Amino acid sequence: MRELGASGESLHELIRILYPINRSITGNGVRETLSILGSYVPLEIHEVPSGTQVFDWTVPLEWNVHEAWIEDPSGKRVVDFANHNLHLVSYSVPVRTKLPLSELRRHLHSIPTRPDAIPNRTSYYKEDWGFCVKDRDLREWLDGEYSVCIDTTLEAGSLTYGELFLPGKKSDEALISSHICHPALANDNLSGIVVAVALAQWLARIPDRNLSYRFLFAPGTIGAITWLARNEAHVKNILHGMVLSGVGDAGGFTYKKSRRGNAGVDRIVQHVLKNSSTNHSVVDYSPYGYDERQFCSPGFNLPVGVFSRTPFGTYPEYHTSDDNLEFVKPGSLTESAGILQEILFVMENDHTFLNLNPKCEPQLGRRGLYDQRGAGIMPMLWCLNLSDGEHSLFDIAEKAKLSFRSIETASRLLHAKGLLSKKQ
Ligand code: ZN
Repeated sequence: MRELGASGESLHELIRILYPINRSITGNGVRETLSILGSYVPLEIHEVPSGTQVFDWTVPLEWNVHEAWIEDPSGKRVVDFANHNLHLVSYSVPVRTKLPLSELRRHLHSIPTRPDAIPNRTSYYKEDWGFCVKDRDLREWLDGEYSVCIDTTLEAGSLTYGELFLPGKKSDEALISSHICHPALANDNLSGIVVAVALAQWLARIPDRNLSYRFLFAPGTIGAITWLARNEAHVKNILHGMVLSGVGDAGGFTYKKSRRGNAGVDRIVQHVLKNSSTNHSVVDYSPYGYDERQFCSPGFNLPVGVFSRTPFGTYPEYHTSDDNLEFVKPGSLTESAGILQEILFVMENDHTFLNLNPKCEPQLGRRGLYDQRGAGIMPMLWCLNLSDGEHSLFDIAEKAKLSFRSIETASRLLHAKGLLSKKQ
């Protein structure tokens, strides 16, 4: 297995490797992406045949691109998929035709207010075709007959997703999910993918993990639906879950709560963000967004929130060619990975203890614990007082308005002196 490391530069380097691959909700670009991720973490790759029924949806035909371009009346190639994979509307059906610009325009997409950006367009569930171009280029196109070539295949194949399971002592698990269906877009969502890989490598190195961890790399919407349809009996183990997306831009953090609103993950993420002195905001659940829509559908109602930086759709680079390698910052990637490690640290270490000396305070001085004066003593006093079997370390941190880290450190000291025992 290759070592990714946690440095922003190494995360950015992996984004650079994945960026040119043409991904969609199915196809060889998804396989190639997962195969690269599989060189960093032992991914299990699943292929689900086209036509498979998954709840109210059907796994679509598999889409692959050989070439796609438009030539102007003089024979000059004015758009070429080979230059940028956003040029072709994803899931475009095969086309070989000549038509006047006036008719071709119906199949062209540009952003007049952002003339140097190529938009990202898809047509997964409606048979159509189209090209995305820079508005500035489109303004130069002259009337006349244009030649269009879209050499794509839409055939019975499969939907591909990757899954990594890291077992722990408990069957309770934390789920980290990232969508992998976007072509040359860096923040949405190569950033989420590479940070997830870094977290998986970090967790894999923890000996005797308490929780189990599951990473899901699946195409948006249909991938999450497919996974849920195939794992319905198993989702009861999901104790905490996060969808990771848009974690590489320079903006502050945004956490979108699960549908439950007060699940453990919601409380833990807010606690870590509050203690991190980073710029952040927390928003309530709404049924629009990423794959939380499936995980939080009423029939599942899983404790899954969304961890991102600037919310999707609110930055002008979103779903355009400007969401590129410069838009994602190495520093932002490391910072996101660091906060997420802290969140996972809380999940992993949130034990419940019993005070073994509950009648009056134990004499801390005799045990060499009393010289921790002032603020240093408070986490210990809180730990002793609330370790009644009813409060976990996280509950204690919240009640004490202290960081989880300080409470967790105090619990280790008290445990080492025989004053606390772990509740089974
Ligand atoms: Zn997107």
